[in-house]
Amino acid sequence: MQHALGFLERAVSTAGDRAALLQDGLALRYDAFAAAAAALGRQLRALGAAGEGVAVLLPNSAELNVAVHAVWYASAKAVLFNPAYPVHELVPLLGDAAPRIVICSADAAAPLREAATSLGVAYLLTLGMHGEVTLDELSARPHLAPPPAPHPSDVAVLLYTGGTTGIAKGVEHSHASVVAMVEAMQLAWPTRYATETWLNVAPSFHVYGFLMGLMNPVAAAATLIPVARFKPDLVVDALASHRVTVFAGGPASLYGALLAAETFPSADLSSLRVCAAGGAPFPVELLARWQRAVGCAIREAYGMTEMAPITGNQHATLKSGSVGPALPGVELSIVDTELGTHVLGAGAAGEVRVRGAHLFRGYRGRADETAAALRDGWLHTGDIGYLDDDGYLFLVDRKKDLILVGGFNVYPREVEEVLIAHDAVREVAVLGAPDARKGEAVVAFVVLAKDATATVDDLHRHCAERLVTYKVPSRIELLDAVPRTAANKTDRRALRAILGALGA
Ligand code: ATP
Ligand code: MG
Repeated sequence: MQHALGFLERAVSTAGDRAALLQDGLALRYDAFAAAAAALGRQLRALGAAGEGVAVLLPNSAELNVAVHAVWYASAKAVLFNPAYPVHELVPLLGDAAPRIVICSADAAAPLREAATSLGVAYLLTLGMHGEVTLDELSARPHLAPPPAPHPSDVAVLLYTGGTTGIAKGVEHSHASVVAMVEAMQLAWPTRYATETWLNVAPSFHVYGFLMGLMNPVAAAATLIPVARFKPDLVVDALASHRVTVFAGGPASLYGALLAAETFPSADLSSLRVCAAGGAPFPVELLARWQRAVGCAIREAYGMTEMAPITGNQHATLKSGSVGPALPGVELSIVDTELGTHVLGAGAAGEVRVRGAHLFRGYRGRADETAAALRDGWLHTGDIGYLDDDGYLFLVDRKKDLILVGGFNVYPREVEEVLIAHDAVREVAVLGAPDARKGEAVVAFVVLAKDATATVDDLHRHCAERLVTYKVPSRIELLDAVPRTAANKTDRRALRAILGALGA
């Protein structure tokens, strides 16, 4: 495959009459999907899109998938942002990405128009219900020969990092790199061609959702149900009623919410074959709970915007607690956390370092951060982990989340795993808070399961029985919900603010 459009072209030629996208009673076939994307691509090209950025600000939907492919038909670069951001959060991103055209919904256009114009956006095009362009209208346009194909080295997409540890950074991937990411993803989560019914809840503006909701369903010629807003009860119903075979989930919190959904106990989810996860640590206990209840193991992959995926936990050789071995084509080693030059042996924890065909080339406009992350062709991930004797990667935590308690290292994940194993605990997040005596102290935020009666003292005792003293949280705070980033990861910055408000 030469470029990111190749997957759609293959699906059209081998399964053109298969439903590609299901949405609100509409079933868009692969041939109609490609024709609509080519038609919109021609329009974008006429607006001068070739070689420029086109921001697609749409929630997960058939329109989003058509629009991104249209951008490629226009030989332009797709720029993906969270469409739910208010204008003031979009402004710095638009300033950074400098797109020529913005495609958004009719509702989003009005508040955005003025800011977009002042940032040099030449056209704002509305797509979807009540938009200037609709799928029906695109489908009715004359079928012309498809526009020329993109070049493998052209930039295909500009994606932003999760913004978990700081300001979200722009990461550009070429067409060749997108193809390599898709192919690696197919190894992490093998699917059957032209037979799968695929439901994606991961936001497509994030690398995981971009691959699992936009690229890989097309690469598998699957029938995709895009879900714009994650409502656990409705997702459970949709999984059952559509007899979904591939569920593109995401971090553990999503699976936890499905298990707790009111519709879950009575739902027949026996059609599920692949349940995909990734993006954040996944407690072993929750993996087991899902497998017991649904009968389908969750396969976890590890990756990042800069290179995704890196590892995948293969079905036959699933190892509890591991994110799997490096995928074929990925080189991975563990290096010391100080200089990052000394390669460590099996069992020793250090920083994960990777390289491969789908490695990014740098952060947009951030030379310093690029130099810090990319050294001698290796991406230093900022993640701490170790390899076992079979080359399976076990992630410990992020370097930046390490808590230093009186000179001892505490990784939040270890404490989180202990707390989530308690029956009364539904969600948990652990972080370090400044402590006058010990430097830092371990603080745990816990969301209790419905009807749970456990007290903070009970949870404290549970930790004290299982962890060495310095790892036991010195504070446990109960919350109604753990704040999440747009990519559904624990938002530690928001938790720090809560801690500040509580008087840390
Ligand atoms: P930012 O780089 O802006 O701080 P981010 O690192 O969260 O945000 P992403 O590129 O979305 O942005 O996420 C990649 C990170 O997510 C990885 O570096 C790793 O810390 C974490 N991650 C991804 N997959 C897994 C997984 N399966 N288990 C544990 N952590 C994971
Ligand atoms: Mg990161």
